[in-house]
Amino acid sequence: MSDLRDLYQQVIVEHSRSPRNYRELNELSHSAEGYNPLCGDQVRVYLQMQGDRVADVAFQGSGCAISKASASLMTTIVKGMTRAEAERLFARFRTMMTGDRGAEVDEEALGKLAVFAGVREFPVRVKCATLAWHTLQAALEDRDEPVSTE
Ligand code: ZN
Repeated sequence: MSDLRDLYQQVIVEHSRSPRNYRELNELSHSAEGYNPLCGDQVRVYLQMQGDRVADVAFQGSGCAISKASASLMTTIVKGMTRAEAERLFARFRTMMTGDRGAEVDEEALGKLAVFAGVREFPVRVKCATLAWHTLQAALEDRDEPVSTE
């Protein structure tokens, strides 16, 4: 796990300093807003779907480094995925984040998201890491109500 932990630190720092796809989309088909009241994180996710595929995805928001890094990484990963692929990955990610923190991490299935396994050592931070994904899910479902992790 120590390699993952080092990588985790690097990814969080790097993505929170220069978040990817941090913008509004000019053309968008879906968006949703999410809050994590425990930490004060807020995020808005913008989606441009082409049929069943994520043609473009971006986000804006404010919050801690983990929430920002997670949203940033998410946008780089789900772009080009089908809705089903994105939802499957979120389900895996959520299982990893909320499961036993000693549980083995399926790095092959999770790809870069595996670095967030380090967050499991800080249970209050888990919702910071999953917020963007809950918000993405809400956007995919076209929900109007803002989502809250509480
Ligand atoms: Zn946070």
